[in-house]
Amino acid sequence: MHFIDIILPIPIQKTFTYSVTEDEATFLQKGMRVAVSFGKTKMYTGLVFNIHQTAPILYEAKEILQILDEKPIVNELQLKHWQWIANYYMCSLGDVYRASLPSAFLLESETILYKNEAFLDESILADDEFLIFEALQHQSQLTIHQVADILGKKKVMPTVNELIKKSAIYIKEEIYEQYKPKLVKYIRLHANYNNDDALGNLLEELSNAKKQREAVFGFFQLSSTKKPIKAKELEKKAKVSQSILKSLVDKNIFEFYHIQTDRIQFKGDTNDLKVLNEFQQKALLEIKETFKEKDVTLLHGITSSGKTEVYTKLIQQVLDQGKQVLFLLPEIALTTQIITRLQVYFGDQISVFHSKYSMNERVEVWNNVLENKTKAQIILGARSSIFLPFSNLGLIVVDEEHETSYKQFEPSPRYNARDAAIVLAKIHKAKIVLGSATPSLESYYNAQQKKYGFVELNRRHGNVLLPKIELIDVKEKHRKKEMNGHFSDRMLKLIQDALDLKEQVILFQNRRGFSPVVECKTCGVSPQCPNCDVTLTFHKFRSELRCHYCNYQRAMPNSCGACGSNTLDTKGFGTEQIELELKELFPDFKIGRMDLDTTRGKFGYQKIIGAFEAREIDVLVGTQMLSKGLDFDNVTLVGILNADSMLNFPDFRAHERAYDMMVQVSGRAGRSKKQGNVAIQTYNPFHKILQQVSTTSYTEMYKEQLQERWQYKYPPYYRVIKITLKHKDYNKVDSGVNWLFKSLYNSFGENVLGPTAPAVSRIRNQFIKNIVIKIPPKQNLANTKNHVLKIRNSFEAVKDFRPIRFIIDVDAY
Ligand code: ADP
Ligand code: ZN
Ligand code: ZN
Repeated sequence: MHFIDIILPIPIQKTFTYSVTEDEATFLQKGMRVAVSFGKTKMYTGLVFNIHQTAPILYEAKEILQILDEKPIVNELQLKHWQWIANYYMCSLGDVYRASLPSAFLLESETILYKNEAFLDESILADDEFLIFEALQHQSQLTIHQVADILGKKKVMPTVNELIKKSAIYIKEEIYEQYKPKLVKYIRLHANYNNDDALGNLLEELSNAKKQREAVFGFFQLSSTKKPIKAKELEKKAKVSQSILKSLVDKNIFEFYHIQTDRIQFKGDTNDLKVLNEFQQKALLEIKETFKEKDVTLLHGITSSGKTEVYTKLIQQVLDQGKQVLFLLPEIALTTQIITRLQVYFGDQISVFHSKYSMNERVEVWNNVLENKTKAQIILGARSSIFLPFSNLGLIVVDEEHETSYKQFEPSPRYNARDAAIVLAKIHKAKIVLGSATPSLESYYNAQQKKYGFVELNRRHGNVLLPKIELIDVKEKHRKKEMNGHFSDRMLKLIQDALDLKEQVILFQNRRGFSPVVECKTCGVSPQCPNCDVTLTFHKFRSELRCHYCNYQRAMPNSCGACGSNTLDTKGFGTEQIELELKELFPDFKIGRMDLDTTRGKFGYQKIIGAFEAREIDVLVGTQMLSKGLDFDNVTLVGILNADSMLNFPDFRAHERAYDMMVQVSGRAGRSKKQGNVAIQTYNPFHKILQQVSTTSYTEMYKEQLQERWQYKYPPYYRVIKITLKHKDYNKVDSGVNWLFKSLYNSFGENVLGPTAPAVSRIRNQFIKNIVIKIPPKQNLANTKNHVLKIRNSFEAVKDFRPIRFIIDVDAY
């Protein structure tokens, strides 16, 4: 007897055992996909994890349904990495499997309808049912999708079920491939015309068909290049239509054929790498020196010091050794610029992988990496690219390593891509460099502890000085009546000065929309989201109120919903309001906005960033997207409109993050020629973080924050595991969380904090409660996690608690 253990893409802790024949066992390898049935009718794509001869004890192994691959699509290095992720982040291998593979690989079954030939009495069918039955007279099968199309509605299962009940149809589950290769149509001469006589005759034959003759002539002209000829190309060249080519194919003069191509291809020229300046050169040598002893090195380089140029040299060396490179970026906003920069050096050796790519595009990148193709030697991608099937990594670069967007919140696995990348590098025996102008406290601490190598780069390229940063006291400005809308006179002067010199300006406001709160001046009531415990944000352009947590939206009312008065007022401000104020204040200049609302769509970011680069926009207003590594050479002023909103979060990382954000966004100023300016509006100019930002004193910030982390028992000293419970019934969550707190407290005592409700305590009608477990430096991590899992099992054994969502977040943010 032969068996395989497979991973299923569902949140179940264990692998499942299925039986296979001897032939199948010989053919199958770890990392191949098989279709199996699981549960009552569902079919899933499982991944082979183990092949063996031991029957499962607790259940009878079912047979597999189908083998889906000829060779593994996941390699053993990945499986090792997945196991680490599942263990460390306390989730199932199935969760990691689902997160790793492009969804096209995870085929699920589809329900297919067939006509029951024995069914005769059509009169018992209702109208909708008859429509379906009739359609099945014309085609042998229908998918649920097609049924929805026919009926013109989404909810079709009642109709389908009724048809089954009346024995008019039966259904089957079938698996189908989702990935469709992109085929390009080419054209060539039919084999009949492979000799000169035939060709002579051909032109004769066509003497009356002018267009067809032109197509044939066009073909001969193109074929002189000896390259395959695309049908489209020929249409253009000969100025003929598709139907002319078709008629030539029908006459057996031409024939069409198809070649599979990748959807994304780089076309363009490449340049040599830049020559490093002396400081970059030194940093490069130091990094290589640290790599002799350490696998991880932190590069602390101030903004615009040219970290990217240093990375390129490291990358080149690794490519020369024939190894793969992974370049991680926190967000897509960044990739549009860095892709272009790196492509100029490395051309088509780069593949990009991120969430705005379509499923088909992702499958192509996956396959190219799997086959170690030339075009996939450097992968540039956001966090999920750590899951690609690398076989031979030599180097990982984690750019902007401090970024919180490396952490996945939802769904599981809740991994930090930086940390998972360090483990990935280890598995490949590769080196990894973490780079940032504002390293995370964790990484800087690890460097100080000599766990990581450490290299600094303290000069901006071209010796441009870091920007001058000034703090503007808004309270004072209000008192002196020197505010115009949300702008101080000083800020307006700096903007005007920059614009007068034809320089560009970036303004940062970390909220989108027009205003986050609408309030009635008569009764004080604010419109709330019906599904979440937050006020609705006013978006003026569409005159809408929107929830930023669940996307609920409705028209802005004219009067107060509570008292009926006409006295609705807005409080606070977002990017939309700033944009509108600027348009009034600077009517002769072009104002742009970059936030979630303006960057939808695949090329949303690219369009805005491109327009700003091309200087079609003079002032760009935006949210934290603007703080991410963007490189514009003509920006000399960065304004931060409301620093305080970043400082007042009830979160142990809030101050560190506020520092990062402000220093990073400031770093967009004065990158190329002259020193830039940064102006920060605040009610608390003496706040220590603002003081540290204004002097760019990273180490001061680091020491002070570290002190607090020690005092309040937080990372990097203590580790934290956050447990979140969610349910739509408040009482259920509440009794669940109290039970849980007691059991955790019995085991971990004072190191369990909570239970608390988060700032937004209900989202999408789910009430939320948190508990945080702190793990002291000497406490064994693996044992602690096992114990937490045991407590979760007991929790889930309580019938009343079973419906509660139980979320574990290791190293929570
Ligand atoms: P960082 O990533 O450290 O913020 P970048 O790598 O974006 O800095 O470099 C800032 C700017 O300076 C970029 O436009 C880059 O092209 C330019 N630059 C950096 N180093 C060099 C160099 N050695 N030669 C020419 N230009 C450079
Ligand atoms: Zn009112
Ligand atoms: Zn909501």
